[in-house]
Amino acid sequence: MAELIDGKRISKEIKDELKEKVAAYKAQGIEIALAVIQVGQDPASTVYVGNKKKACEYIGIKSVAYELPEETTEEELLEIIDQLNKDDSIYGILVQLPVPKHINEDHIIQAIDPKKDVDGFHPQSVGALSIGQPGFVSCTPAGIIQLLKRSGISIEGKECVVIGRSNIVGKPMSLLLLRENGTVTICHSRTKNLKEVTKRADILVAAVGKPKMIDASYVKEGAVVIDVGIHRNAENKLCGDVDFDSVEKIASAITPVPGGVGPMTIAMLMNNCVEAVEIRNA
Ligand code: NDP
Repeated sequence: MAELIDGKRISKEIKDELKEKVAAYKAQGIEIALAVIQVGQDPASTVYVGNKKKACEYIGIKSVAYELPEETTEEELLEIIDQLNKDDSIYGILVQLPVPKHINEDHIIQAIDPKKDVDGFHPQSVGALSIGQPGFVSCTPAGIIQLLKRSGISIEGKECVVIGRSNIVGKPMSLLLLRENGTVTICHSRTKNLKEVTKRADILVAAVGKPKMIDASYVKEGAVVIDVGIHRNAENKLCGDVDFDSVEKIASAITPVPGGVGPMTIAMLMNNCVEAVEIRNA
């Protein structure tokens, strides 16, 4: 039976460490504020935004909410971002994605000052990651590195296989594993003989977006399996991209869904907000 990698416990550990850092900054007169912008009322986005505000409250970061109507134009949103870029009291700016279809997501991401880009999606942040310079890192993959490190799983020299090449998970995940000296392979929908590739993995990260697709037949005995997927099944229960019941029998360690990668994403967003103080002063 695989060891469970407990994202709930590790994310709490990180948030408690951040709480102390935030208090230390407050003592120096620095109050960290995060602007959270939501356009429209997508129910999933409302839940995510609510969780981010709660996490801010927990660690002592001020959250400044912008709840904008669905009809908000791209120009209006860009104007708000411009004001927030210029406002020194704001350390981080987060626009909850997806934005309504009439707004170009790339324009929004690129408008955020890279020094306030706590989601790590700006091309400058992505570029910095790829050439090993300091900058904000996308929260979900950064959280996975913390899950591995804080569970005592070393990455150096390991065969790491990432299934998925999205800009927010797969690609930054691969770069981070490489930065930790893993030997990294990226798979995607055109990969031939997927199982042959995934069975080489000492560390397998599934970010494929298909409920329970990765069963034991994709996994080498003793591998560490990280499940990024989040889906709701017909009974409204959460499940991941990994078929947990079959994989836990052969993996050495595995993240559950819920309670694995999910809680780490918000913890790393909070971490980025705290890092924003150093990045501003760098
Ligand atoms: P995307 O849909 O953007 O990317 C999925 C990737 O999987 C693509 O690169 C795609 O390949 C690849 N893929 C699809 N089907 C196959 C297949 N049959 N074989 C091999 N590769 C395949 O998803 P995201 O990266 O945004 O998210 C992945 C999952 O993680 C989702 O379930 C999402 O809900 C979840 N998620 C969870 C987060 C958390 O906090 N826990 C945060 C973000 C996402 P191609 O590029 O060729 O199309």
